[in-house]
Amino acid sequence: MKSLVRKEGMEEIIKCQNCTQGFVWSKEEQKLYKSRGLPSPRYCPICRGIIEARERDHARNKYER
Ligand SMILES: [Zn+2]
Repeated sequence: MKSLVRKEGMEEIIKCQNCTQGFVWSKEEQKLYKSRGLPSPRYCPICRGIIEARERDHARNKYER
């Protein structure tokens, strides 16, 4: 059974703790985070990119896409 229906209303608006901007945490990203066992993001994609890159530099985990 195929279902291409996209459910809406599962996205969350999160306020970035760094730049205090509200950003959308998409359903797809939520899934990605869950599959990686990560907690919900506290930063917007831009700040997150910077922070993640920094952390990745420190602890080299299996950070595969
Ligand atoms: Zn931010």
